[in-house]
Amino acid sequence: MTIGRAGCYRIGSPMRWPPTSDDLTRLLDSLTWVAEHSPYYRRAFADAGLRVADLHTYDDVRRLVPRTAKTDLVANQRAHPPFGEFLAVPRSDFASLHTSPGPILIPRIASERGGTPVLKEAIKAMGVRPGDIAHVTLSYHIMPGGLRLHRAFEEAGCLVINGGTGQSQLQVEVARAWGATVYAGTPSFLANLGDTAKSMGLDPRRDLHYRVGFSTAEALTPALRRELGDTFGIELFDHCGEAQIGPLAGECREHEGMHLHAEDLFCEFLDPETGEPVEEGGTGELVATQLGPRALPLVRYAPGDVFRLLPGACACGDPSPRIAFVGQKGAIRKIKGVLVHPAQVHRALSELPGVSRFQIVVEHPEGERYDRAVLRVGLTEPAADPAGFARDVAARVKAIALIGMEVELVSESELPEGAAAPRFADVMVDRRRHA
Ligand SMILES: [Zn+2]
Repeated sequence: MTIGRAGCYRIGSPMRWPPTSDDLTRLLDSLTWVAEHSPYYRRAFADAGLRVADLHTYDDVRRLVPRTAKTDLVANQRAHPPFGEFLAVPRSDFASLHTSPGPILIPRIASERGGTPVLKEAIKAMGVRPGDIAHVTLSYHIMPGGLRLHRAFEEAGCLVINGGTGQSQLQVEVARAWGATVYAGTPSFLANLGDTAKSMGLDPRRDLHYRVGFSTAEALTPALRRELGDTFGIELFDHCGEAQIGPLAGECREHEGMHLHAEDLFCEFLDPETGEPVEEGGTGELVATQLGPRALPLVRYAPGDVFRLLPGACACGDPSPRIAFVGQKGAIRKIKGVLVHPAQVHRALSELPGVSRFQIVVEHPEGERYDRAVLRVGLTEPAADPAGFARDVAARVKAIALIGMEVELVSESELPEGAAAPRFADVMVDRRRHA
C-alpha cells in the first residue's frame, strides 16, 4: 500500500531506542497517512496547530504530537458508536473485529499484522523451532490474544492446538495425546494444568512434554517460574504486551529482561514526570505509535505502563533494547530519586515464606537531605533470625527495585488487607509534604 512521503510502507527491522533515522522516517510516514485518513487525528493535529510536514526530528514529534490516552479512545467510541472517529478506512475494508476491555472495538484490515512480527521474533528467541507443537491457552473468544498467538505459531512453522481457556482436564488430555512441546498462556493456568494432571494420576514431567513456556498476561514471579519449572521441567519465558497495541517484548534464553521486538510499533520511553526521553538504565513510561495503515490507528498511545530500560548488551547477541516491566504509572512513587512500584517489591518478597502483606512508608525527615523509606514486612509467623531475615529482604529489594530501604518486620495483622498483590491499594504510605 502506498503511503506518505517516502512512498511504499514496509515493515523494517525491530526499532531501536533512541530511535534511528529509519525509525523516524517510518513514524513520519505513518503520521502523514493518519492525518489524511483518521478524522479524530486530523482534528487533534489541527487543534495542536500541527502539520506533519513540519516535523523533522524525533524531538519535534515528542514536543508537538499530542498523546492519546485509553480514556480518549473509550470516550470517543461511546460518543460516536460503534468505532468512533479514530477509524481510518471504510468498514467494507475490515477483515476482522476484536474487542478489548473498556469495551473497545478493534477492527483490523487484512494487511495489518496485529503484532504477529513481534510474536514471531519472540517465539524464535525462546528457542521454538518449526515442527514444535504449540498449545495456546489464551482466550480465543472476542479478545485478540489467543488468535494472535495462534497465527504467530502457525507462521513460525509450528503445529498449533487451539486450547483456549478452561476445561483443564480436556486440555491435559489433548496436550498429552498430541505431545505438545510448547505451552503458551498465563502461568496460573499452567499451574492449574499441573494440578489437574496430578489429580488424573499423571506425572506432568513424564506424561506431558512441554519444553518451552511462553508466559504472558500475568506477572511471572521468580517463585512461580521455579515452581512451574520443577513441576513440568519446562523453561519459562516472560512476555508482555498491551490490549490495544498488542505484543511488545519477550525474554531470550538469557532471561535478563525482555527484548523489545517492535517492528510495526514506534515505542518511546519517557520519564513519567518530565516527559524527557529515558536513557539506558532509566525508567520510562511507554508511548507507542502504530506504524503502517490501520483500520483504527493509534498515535502516541500511552496506556500508563512503565518499564526500566536495562543497560548494556545482551549475551545472546540480539541488539534490540531490553526492558523490564515496572508497573502502572499511577502506583509509582519517586523515592530517593528512584521510581519504585509496589509490584517490584512484591517480586522481591515473593520467594520468601510467610510474607504476603507489605507497606512502604516514605517520609522526608525535617532538616534531612534525603527521603527515608521504611519497608514494613508483614509476617504470618515470627522469623527465627529476624536480623538475618531483614538483611535478606533488604538485599532482594535492592537487587530488583534498585533502592535501599530500612526493613521493619511486623505481624501480618498490623498491615491492612489492601497492602498486598494484586492491587497494592494500601502499600504506599507517602508522608512527604508536597508543594
Ligand atoms: Zn538476549
